[in-house]
Amino acid sequence: MVISAPSGGGKSAIRAEIFKKDKRFKFSVTCTTRKKRKGEAEGRDYCFVSEKKFKKLISDKKLLEWAKVHGNLYGTPIKSVLDILKEDKIPLMTIDVKGARAVKKYFPDAVTVFILPASLKILIKRLKLRKEDKENIAIRLETAKKEIKEASFYDYFVVNGSLKKAVENIIKIADGESLKMHRNKDAVSKFREELLAFNQMRRYGGY
Ligand code: 5GP
Repeated sequence: MVISAPSGGGKSAIRAEIFKKDKRFKFSVTCTTRKKRKGEAEGRDYCFVSEKKFKKLISDKKLLEWAKVHGNLYGTPIKSVLDILKEDKIPLMTIDVKGARAVKKYFPDAVTVFILPASLKILIKRLKLRKEDKENIAIRLETAKKEIKEASFYDYFVVNGSLKKAVENIIKIADGESLKMHRNKDAVSKFREELLAFNQMRRYGGY
C-alpha cells in the first residue's frame, strides 16, 4: 500500500497509528539524503544516507524508485519491499506521487491512497508547528499544488480530519482489497484441488 500526502498532511502520525492498530502492515523504510529531524530515528523513519551512498544505491540498481523532493533525494530499496512481502505482510510506503506511480508500475497490484488534511488552513498550521522556515513552507505548498493535480491517479482518497477516522478508513481499504478475488486465487485453487481429490477418492469408494 502506498500512501501519499502533501508535506504536513499527517502521514507520519497516520503511519504510526496504523502500525499500532493493525499488525498486517509493516513499514517499508526508505532512504533519504535529508537531515534527520528531531525525534526521528535511523532505520525507523528513514535510512539516512549521504548523497554519495544514495548515488551508489541508484547505480547498483538497489532502488525500486527514487525522486528528488524539496531538494533532497528519497528512494525505496527494492529489498525492503520484497522482504515484507515474503513475510506475507503489507508493505506500507509513504512516498510522493512520482514514487507512487513507479511502485504501481513495478507492482500493478499495489493499492494507492491519497491523503489530504481537512483544510488548507490546517496544512499551513502543521507546517508552521514543525518550525519549517517561510521559504521551506512555500516550497512544500508549491509541491502540494503539483501533487494534488495528480490525485486522480490514486485508487483511494482519505481525509485526515480525525486521525482515528483516517486510520479506520485505511484499514477498511486494506480489508476490502484483501477480499478481492485476484488476491485470493491460491485459497480458491487449494479448495478446488481438495474437492477434486475428494471426488476422486469417492469414485473409488475410498471414503
Ligand atoms: P519528508 O522529508 O517530509 O519526510 O518527506 C518529503 C516527501 O518525500 C514526502 O512526500 C514523502 O512521502 C516523500 N518520500 C519519502 N520517502 C520517499 C521515497 O522513498 N520515494 C519517494 N519517491 N518519495 C519519498
